[in-house]
Amino acid sequence: MNNLLEETKFILKKYGISANKSLGQNFLINEEVIKKMIEGAEVSKNDLIIEIGPGLGTLTKELLEKAGKVIAIELDKRMIEILSDRFALYTNFELINQDVLKVNLKELISNNKIQNGTVKIVANLPYYITTPIIMKLLEEKLEVESITVMVQKEVADRLIEKPGGKNSGAITYSVYYYATSANIIEVMPESFIPEPSVESEVIKLTIRKQVPVQIQNEELLFKIIKYAFMQRRKTLVNALEKSGIFNSKEEIIKILKKLNLNDRVRGEALSLEDYANITNLVTKM
Ligand code: SAM
Repeated sequence: MNNLLEETKFILKKYGISANKSLGQNFLINEEVIKKMIEGAEVSKNDLIIEIGPGLGTLTKELLEKAGKVIAIELDKRMIEILSDRFALYTNFELINQDVLKVNLKELISNNKIQNGTVKIVANLPYYITTPIIMKLLEEKLEVESITVMVQKEVADRLIEKPGGKNSGAITYSVYYYATSANIIEVMPESFIPEPSVESEVIKLTIRKQVPVQIQNEELLFKIIKYAFMQRRKTLVNALEKSGIFNSKEEIIKILKKLNLNDRVRGEALSLEDYANITNLVTKM
């Protein structure tokens, strides 16, 4: 018998609710996956854990046992009622009823960090906003040690790919810039109710203490990468020509030549260092 399946069904019935698909609600019912997620995240009593989308609290319950403090951010009011009842006796639990994309995470972390402790993010993410959430967590340069999240497998492949690899996209370069990455566990649709139509994977991003390339203008670097991947079938020169970043097509060719890169090269073949070198040679203000 699967206890988590029974427990999840019981809670849904007790509160007379069902999963809201448009909020990406797929509830975890696989104990082994939860165990691996917590082990992978290396949760300890020194940690402040930020959980995004706690739902009915299945992962939250385990986090509360292992962590110093858990702050859970949930958009759905119906879940807030359930979580408040379920964890009323836990003094290390705080709940925020808000869209995670609108939360001031920097402030939240600095107000709640455990002295000499670390901050980690652990979540089974709502798949419809995986990318904006991951980008927010990385770009805001939060005082966070690692991000351990369940995402759609296809997205995981892109996030943990090395720049220039077969699965790489613009986001691959961003993730690589800010973090090192690892696969924790692959997860089948049967591990959730309702079952999602895709396979999932738990990945861990460990934030780098130092970025891996020398760069003068970070914003420009990511703008160039974005343009290079917007039209990935084109050569890099043609993809960048209309970006407005360079004075002319000839200038792009000149920069590539200077870096010993072929002017027929496609954006997906370049390393992060290549993009950093191109960015550092941009002259247009
Ligand atoms: N953690 C639970 C579990 O593993 O069973 C639920 C995970 S479910 C995949 C995603 C959760 O994210 C849902 O509870 C959903 O309501 C919540 N959610 C969706 N959009 C959100 C947002 N913008 N901000 C915060 N939570 C959100």
